[in-house]
Order: sequence, then C-alpha cells, then structure tokens
Amino acid sequence: MFQRVFIGIGSNLGDRRDHYRRAIEQIAALPKTRIVKMSSLYETEPHGDPQPWYVNGVIEIETEFTPLYLLQHLQTIEATMGRKRKPSTKKWAARTIDLDLLLFDNQTVDAPTLTVPHPELQNRRFVLLPLSELAPHLTHPRFGVTIVDLLAAVKDNKKVLLLPPNA
Ligand code: ATP
Ligand code: CA
Ligand code: CA
Repeated sequence: MFQRVFIGIGSNLGDRRDHYRRAIEQIAALPKTRIVKMSSLYETEPHGDPQPWYVNGVIEIETEFTPLYLLQHLQTIEATMGRKRKPSTKKWAARTIDLDLLLFDNQTVDAPTLTVPHPELQNRRFVLLPLSELAPHLTHPRFGVTIVDLLAAVKDNKKVLLLPPNA
C-alpha cells in the first residue's frame, strides 16, 4: 500500500540547487516510490553555529517502503552525494545534502534511529513554510493541529526567503 510521505531537503555546501535537484532525481529513482509534489525552494538563514545559508524545500512522495526502510534509502542517497557523517560531526553541521523524514502518513514512530513526525518540524519556519504549500490542512498526528496553524504559531525568527524558480 502506498503511503503519503513528506521529506524535507536541505543543502548549504557547493552548488546547493544542483544537490537539491540530484537528491530528488535519486528519490524518484527508488523502487516502490513516486514523487507527487514539490514545494518552492527557499533560501534560509542557518540555525546553530555560523555556516552558509541553506536552500530548503519539501517534497511529497508516495512510497510502499516502511518508515525505517525509507530512512535507510534516504541515508544511502545522502552518503552517495558525499555527505560526511562521522561520529564527531555535529548535528546541524554544513552539508551537501540533508534528507529528513518529516511526516509518514498519519503514523508516529519512536525508534532509536527514527522519530516521526520529525521532532523539530513545529519549531522550524524553513520546514513549515514549504510544507504549508503542499499540505496546509494536514493535521500533525501528535499535536492534532494543522500545518498552517503550526506556521502561524512558530516563534522561529530566522529568515526564510522565497527563491525565484530560475535564479
Ligand atoms: P535535525 O534532525 O535536528 O534536523 P540533522 O538533520 O542535522 O538534525 P542528522 O545528523 O542528519 O541530523 O541526523 C542524525 C540522526 O537523526 C540520523 O542518523 C537519524 O537516525 C536520526 N533521525 C531521527 N528521526 C529522523 C527523521 N525523522 N528523519 C531523519 N533522520 C532522523
Ligand atoms: Ca535536518
Ligand atoms: Ca537529517
């Protein structure tokens, strides 16, 4: 059975848009998976340590994978694209590509390697804004409120700027 899934994509090293595009190509090439919708791209001010600005967006896919298998595939794509993931590498460090599993149908997952919905989704304007383009009225399975409601309430004041399609 196909499940409706949202993936957050980010890149802040090298040719960020090219990394973004190539990640989508690789997700589209996965078996049992198809791309349904893509948000606009946004240029976003980083959280945490000083580092280059990100290009961020969200895609909607349909997949027959389980959440944990999908995470494995996303991590393989990250590794193929040259993302270094060492034990010493801090979370939120600069990266060629970051693929976060945001929502998996209306499921919740609490596994050692996977929390769904993504635990920071409600705190990040750079996730909520593109997500609200694709699924404004989708209800968060833990909080019981919609994406637009989360966006209206978010306190995150980091800048999130719409990128023109062909800039
Ligand atoms: P953040 O998760 O706050 O956005 P990050 O993307 O920088 O930070 P990573 O270093 O990419 O963090 O991931 C660290 C670990 O998070 C991964 O190894 C993965 O097992 C785990 N993880 C837990 N929940 C999720 C999720 N929903 N999507 C992706 N990874 C997740
Ligand atoms: Ca992330
Ligand atoms: Ca991640």
